[in-house]
Amino acid sequence: MIPYGKQDIQQSDIDAVVEVLTSDFLTQGPKVPAFESAVAEKVGAKHALAVNSATSALHIACLALGLGEGDWLWTTPVTFVASANCGLYCGAKVDFVDIDPQTYNLSVSALKEKLEKAASEKRLPKVLVVVHLCGQPCEMQAIKALAERYGVKVIEDASHAIGGKYQSEYIGNGRYSDITVFSFHPVKIITTAEGGMALTNCDELATKMNLLRSHGITRDSELMTHEPDGPWYYQQVDLGFNYRMTELQAALGLSQLERLDDYVARRHEIAERYSGLLKDFPLTLPWQHPDSYSGLHLYVIRLKLNELSVSHKAVFESLRAQGIGVNLHYIPVHTQPYYQKLGFKPDDFPEAMAYYHQAISLPMYPTLNKNEQQDVVEALKKALQV
Ligand SMILES: *Cc1c(COP(=O)(O)O)cnc(C)c1O
Repeated sequence: MIPYGKQDIQQSDIDAVVEVLTSDFLTQGPKVPAFESAVAEKVGAKHALAVNSATSALHIACLALGLGEGDWLWTTPVTFVASANCGLYCGAKVDFVDIDPQTYNLSVSALKEKLEKAASEKRLPKVLVVVHLCGQPCEMQAIKALAERYGVKVIEDASHAIGGKYQSEYIGNGRYSDITVFSFHPVKIITTAEGGMALTNCDELATKMNLLRSHGITRDSELMTHEPDGPWYYQQVDLGFNYRMTELQAALGLSQLERLDDYVARRHEIAERYSGLLKDFPLTLPWQHPDSYSGLHLYVIRLKLNELSVSHKAVFESLRAQGIGVNLHYIPVHTQPYYQKLGFKPDDFPEAMAYYHQAISLPMYPTLNKNEQQDVVEALKKALQV
């Protein structure tokens, strides 16, 4: 089986992890801060907080921005459930903004319309989570302008997009958002097995997220209500969680980070090759925004069903039967049973549904070789019956 995504682990990664195993610290040692500084420096952010998943990062990001009961969080329906669930964790309500049919990211014109309506009804969202789907950055300049006009905080869910650039600057520098989140799950661009990170340029948000990832506990006397009782002393000043990343994970992340630019460049090579090989197929190929350099976590094709005699499901099944581990990113979140119970109807977001009925993620990972890519294309030709 050729999977849709796969980690690349080299000897240097193994050595880095083994070194930590025999060191004094398996958690709360020097590797996590070293990994945080390295990512912050790489992407140009002031603060980076490593945590045990991007889901945890989204949760503490929402809490740090003050999201709570009675508030709204908006996001795109075409994302992993975590981008929306973080709002529900905080007791907030969740709503969606339909996607742009060309980029598959949250549509800026739909956002504008929805904000205007929400302003007149006095139910503006507190937080907007934008997702750089497949690694392609959202139109952040326009999104930030709207967010400022309506007083909405912005989180970039950049789980697909580390190493990608918007207007020639790395995603994560926070120029157009309050907080950016990365995922280091093995299918993503670089991995720590499980792991995530929240980045911000705001000192206050960083302090808050730092507390929240570790029980709300501090050893910093400046954050305490009175002078420490003694050298043993710490205070719990907020209600936090144990969302910490381990030293083993951070060591792996640091080692992987050295290859970040190579990985993304390799993904671009693979994408260009796919786009060349597939250009005459009855497919819509991924469109790349001229303002951006995608992280290219995913290569998503859309079937032109009116030019095909086979169904989306049949193409998918044929590819899987031929050993091609295709996938679908994503089942629109608002159609999940949990969200249906909250009152959403499938037709609420028609562009997301149109996408869902046509999209297939082809295998895309840095070690995918030319022969394997050729196999994918042959299998697709057979599946499409063209
Ligand atoms: C993978 C992913 C997440 C969750 O990441 P974890 O690190 O697995 O928690 C959130 N949002 C998007 C868009 C993702 O792709």
